[in-house]
Amino acid sequence: MACSKFEYVKHFEQHSTLLPNSHLVVRVDGHGFHRFTSVHNFTKPNDARGLDLMARAARACMDAYPEITLAYGQSDEFSFVFKRATTLYKRREAKIVSTVASLFTAEYMFRWNDCFPDTKMAYPPSFDARAVCYPTDKNLRDYFSWRQADCHINNLYNTAFWALVQDAKNPRTEREAQVILKDTDSAAKNELLFSSYGINYNALPDMFRKGSVLYRKPSLVAEKSKADPSKEPTLRMRNLVCVEYRDIIGDAFWKENPSVLPPPE
Ligand code: ATP
Ligand code: ATP
Ligand code: MG
Ligand code: MG
Repeated sequence: MACSKFEYVKHFEQHSTLLPNSHLVVRVDGHGFHRFTSVHNFTKPNDARGLDLMARAARACMDAYPEITLAYGQSDEFSFVFKRATTLYKRREAKIVSTVASLFTAEYMFRWNDCFPDTKMAYPPSFDARAVCYPTDKNLRDYFSWRQADCHINNLYNTAFWALVQDAKNPRTEREAQVILKDTDSAAKNELLFSSYGINYNALPDMFRKGSVLYRKPSLVAEKSKADPSKEPTLRMRNLVCVEYRDIIGDAFWKENPSVLPPPE
């Protein structure tokens, strides 16, 4: 290894190491996506193409990092859980956070045309990322309940907000819509949507109301022999990443999928 007299500066580097044997969550969030989604004419309040693109970028990250057991996304954010025993990059925080953020951003751009074939990207997006360690299963479940509750609260607000702004007969300015919705509880927003716009909030797509849940599901896959492709394919169990729009606050998801939260090794 070549050494130079300058190499001593390497000792100034500080490494922060993430707590061992704890659930490691990395959350990426779009930088300035209020503007990015407006400049790129996203349908408001929810552009399904944009949510689909986020999920495709997340799936690509799961393909790159087999240690990720679960990912949950809503709006411009995605959270990834790494196995609690992961030793990825010796659990160095900067390395994990920066590679996940840059891979996610690169995948988002790489797949842009698949979801927005008619929209030229006006400028490149970027995502920030943070890592948090959760020591207990309950902490981890509560983390996801927090993000999914946030999805619900924001989506109900945004649905009411854009109904007022896009009202065909009586369009409100964004400021006016803000004032109308200020201090309304969720029952009042539901009522406004139903009585003024005929929107039954609970009938909106789960993709918008619940967010996207990605996890590895044991699935039967027909695989062809590489040595002899003319042979009948063999059925094998493989863990395939699936995308579902479902509740993760209750127990059902976690009971159905124990491999997402295995007991500590
Ligand atoms: P920051 O850089 O602090 O994260 P931000 O502008 O990205 O700021 P957020 O709080 O992260 O703000 O909110 C994300 C914004 O992107 C919201 O305005 C949300 O409505 C919009 N957005 C994200 N995804 C979509 C989508 N699929 N369809 C429509 N709008 C979206
Ligand atoms: P890590 O993920 O730990 O950074 P790495 O494979 O990226 O691993 P580096 O120590 O960052 O390793 O080294 C970068 C590698 O990329 C070297 O092998 C270097 O020769 C090669 N490389 C970088 N830029 C060029 C270039 N312009 N032309 C040819 N090779 C390059
Ligand atoms: Mg953002
Ligand atoms: Mg956000």
